[in-house]
Amino acid sequence: MDSLTDVPAGAPLDVLRRIFGYDTFRGNQQEIIEHVVAGGDALVLMPTGGGKSLCYQIPALVRPGVAVVISPLIALMQDQVDALTAVGVRAGFLNSTQDYETRRGVEKAFLAGELDLLYLAPEALGGRGTAQLLDRGRVALFAIDEAHCVAQWGHDFRPDYLGLSMLHERWPDVPRIALTATATSATAAEIATRLDLTAARHFVASFDRPNIQYRIVPKREPRRQLLELLRGEHAGDAGIVYCLSRASVDKTAEFLVANGIPALPYHAGLDAATRAAHQQRFLREDGLIMVATIAFGMGIDKPDVRFVAHLDLPKSVEGYYQETGRAGRDGLPSTAWLAYGLQDVVQQRKMIETSDGDLARRRVLAAHLDAMLALCETVGCRRVQLLNYFGQQAQPCGNCDTCLSPPESWDGTEAAQKLLSTVLRLHRERNQRFGAGQSIDILLGRSTDKVTQHRHDQLSTFGIGTELSEAEWRGVVRQLLAQGLLAVEGDYGTLVLTDTSAEVLSRRRDVPMRREAARPAAGSRAAK
Ligand code: ADP
Ligand code: ZN
Repeated sequence: MDSLTDVPAGAPLDVLRRIFGYDTFRGNQQEIIEHVVAGGDALVLMPTGGGKSLCYQIPALVRPGVAVVISPLIALMQDQVDALTAVGVRAGFLNSTQDYETRRGVEKAFLAGELDLLYLAPEALGGRGTAQLLDRGRVALFAIDEAHCVAQWGHDFRPDYLGLSMLHERWPDVPRIALTATATSATAAEIATRLDLTAARHFVASFDRPNIQYRIVPKREPRRQLLELLRGEHAGDAGIVYCLSRASVDKTAEFLVANGIPALPYHAGLDAATRAAHQQRFLREDGLIMVATIAFGMGIDKPDVRFVAHLDLPKSVEGYYQETGRAGRDGLPSTAWLAYGLQDVVQQRKMIETSDGDLARRRVLAAHLDAMLALCETVGCRRVQLLNYFGQQAQPCGNCDTCLSPPESWDGTEAAQKLLSTVLRLHRERNQRFGAGQSIDILLGRSTDKVTQHRHDQLSTFGIGTELSEAEWRGVVRQLLAQGLLAVEGDYGTLVLTDTSAEVLSRRRDVPMRREAARPAAGSRAAK
């Protein structure tokens, strides 16, 4: 193996070809690699699938010493090391899952300079032992993977990452490269400050993934809709289906299998051996579908994932972009499909309200959700909206759902007023709060048991909303929630007015709305 470390300095392209088997660098890989090889600090913002790993793996091979890679993905360290070993790169890892003998072996190899890369969990550096170990060997560079984990206002904060500011204090001469697929300017600035990387050169790759077609559809019967998508456009393709809960992962996987589509479940409730087996099968077999919670996917590198489907609303645009980015790493056309409905908004607002953490934390979560809702409700190009979110400019792509069939918008001001005044009356006149269903029943003039029991048929808004269908009213509620003109509260998702609701009620504010794509025909509405 010695030949690998004998690569002369300045030979990144040679390493790329000889060891990794690729002809050319992608995007700004070469610039980044040359900067780090020369001893510079770097902050790299590159989308999922962009090729971040090589940005530190090649300098690891070109610079003398061992590159230390900090990664939160303990469960994947073995896979990462195996993948490197397979191409002849000498790699090892240290984490809490190892026994004493194994650790000793890795430590010895590190000290003897017999490693090119050493993977560490962030918490390892907190202990004195590991830091002293690094002092005794020769560190070529520090790579901080998933660097957004240091951002407290980000979507994936991990307290252990805060300790990484010590790298610069303790080893000021060792170059550092921090990498992330999360690129809002706020997160990038926070990473730079917290990791003491303000003097580092920033490399921002384009976040556009032109081969991915983004589509967001109203949720009706999500599993049926998914089945239609798979049968119609992705027969025989490998893909990932994300669900929020373990239960719905299991149900969805069973549903697909029952419909003759090969699918496996993956979530934290399965034992480690089953999870590993399912992951291996997904990576190795063709045309398998992984139905998973977001526990699945970080660090998974399968080039031919043809679609990523979300049956529930992701909590943030960052998360959504990371998850959908796992589609189409090979550059071939792929689909990112999301089904989203009123219940998602109600459920997530409730989760935020009941989450632990202080008010500031809940505000962060709410802001993340709002950005996600804005993406769902946009009448413009999804890609433009996504890239703008990451601080990048773009032109309408011509290849997302809203570009291909521009949604009609309509003046929803009057509908909004009817809905908001129903909520207001329930509260003011009856001191009552109800979920969306009851307000919609009232507007549609339905004499359900619950309506009769509470004498809601006496309210002045009873029956004044028959011009819209129930589905359309749900769309109205959803869009009001998305625009912050209405809020949900408590365990039952009861509707409450917000500070801005009054602007609509007093006609000081118009409410443009997006027409639901699958608008029920007039006939089917009357039947309801
Ligand atoms: P990221 O960590 O940014 O999500 P990876 O480092 O896993 O991305 O790379 C994504 C895929 O692209 C991998 O399959 C990787 O081998 C491949 N890749 C990276 N750089 C190149 C390159 N210069 N040429 C061809 N393929 C590349
Ligand atoms: Zn578009």
